[in-house]
Amino acid sequence: MTRKIQVPLFDLKTQYAELKSEIEPALREVIESQHFILGPQVDELEKEIADYCQARHAIGCASGSDALLLALMAYDIGPGDEVICPSYTFFATAGAIARLGARPVFIDIEPTTYNLDIAALEKAIASCTQLKAIIPVHLYGQAVDLDAVIALANKARVPVIEDAAQAIGATDARGIRVGVRGAIGCFSFFPTKNLGGFGDGGIVTTQDETLAQKLKILRVHGMEPKYYHSHLGINSRLDALQATVLRVKLRHLDRWHHARQKNAAFYDRFFLEAGAQDTSTPLAQNSKLALRIPKGTTSPATHIYNQYVIRVPSQKRDALRTALAENGIGTEIYYPVPLHQQECFAYLGYKAGSLPESEAAARETIALPIFPELTQEQLEHVAQNVVAFLHK
Ligand SMILES: *Cc1c(COP(=O)(O)O)cnc(C)c1O
Repeated sequence: MTRKIQVPLFDLKTQYAELKSEIEPALREVIESQHFILGPQVDELEKEIADYCQARHAIGCASGSDALLLALMAYDIGPGDEVICPSYTFFATAGAIARLGARPVFIDIEPTTYNLDIAALEKAIASCTQLKAIIPVHLYGQAVDLDAVIALANKARVPVIEDAAQAIGATDARGIRVGVRGAIGCFSFFPTKNLGGFGDGGIVTTQDETLAQKLKILRVHGMEPKYYHSHLGINSRLDALQATVLRVKLRHLDRWHHARQKNAAFYDRFFLEAGAQDTSTPLAQNSKLALRIPKGTTSPATHIYNQYVIRVPSQKRDALRTALAENGIGTEIYYPVPLHQQECFAYLGYKAGSLPESEAAARETIALPIFPELTQEQLEHVAQNVVAFLHK
């Protein structure tokens, strides 16, 4: 009798079991101190994240969504302003723009990396009259072409706010970690990110002292000194328990990145040997194995694989998901509806077909389990099931 292999999309329990003896005493100390909001643990985490990213300043906040909101607030972005971002991303990227009353200007993605398309960015910049910022997203853990984005932003005289929520530690084509070359880097510590807390959390990075001071004030209701409010801020403080967990986990982050990269390399090899296409060719509906594997970056750029996303013909995607689920394999669709087609953004007037690559990606992509603790048996189970289904 064969044992049924289960492969969830994430398995945070294994990681917790490994780190329990490091995390629990550290948490107990914080609980004994009864100091829960900001404070020494948050200060230390900010120093360690700044150091890790090679940024001058890091300012903790309540979530990655708030990191984006605070970054836009630091530039006083509001009604009448335009901010460019990709349509194919998590909602928070554009939610922050619209929440401040500004207008998200959605652009299409480049179909092999799923990151924003540089030609589309150039076009959008030319079409804007009130452009105030550009938010590139390092989707799935892979850096966008920052050289090109920054050059275009400099020409347009607007800041680049990097949505690095999925990409802490990933490096760009120059070998520089994401979140430092733009004006502000925004990171999330949501539990399923490569560096995840025991709840919500986020951080912003910047090289600029003035911006850093403003961001610090904005996260505490625009208050400095106590009870004197120079700015209209928000309540977005990181708590000491989260910072404590994150400080322990940060020590393991590079090891986890490497494990994810190793898992991705296994899938790549397995799928290529089975006859899958890599990303350099368009998805052929009639190929031997109609599947495109992600475009991994080459040194010095690194992909940290927050997600490992393959691409299959749209008419097979949902059936593949069901077949994998029946075999105990968890998957997810990141993202089924691009932002320009979301109901809450209908007022922006984007038509179906207006951003075709984002729309195609929404129909054809599926994320496979990639977490660091996957066993060889689990990896093989996933890869074999994907290939078996698509060969049918
Ligand atoms: C997770 C994520 C966010 C938001 O982070 P939260 O901590 O969940 O608020 C923003 N942008 C992207 C691309 C994300 O993946």
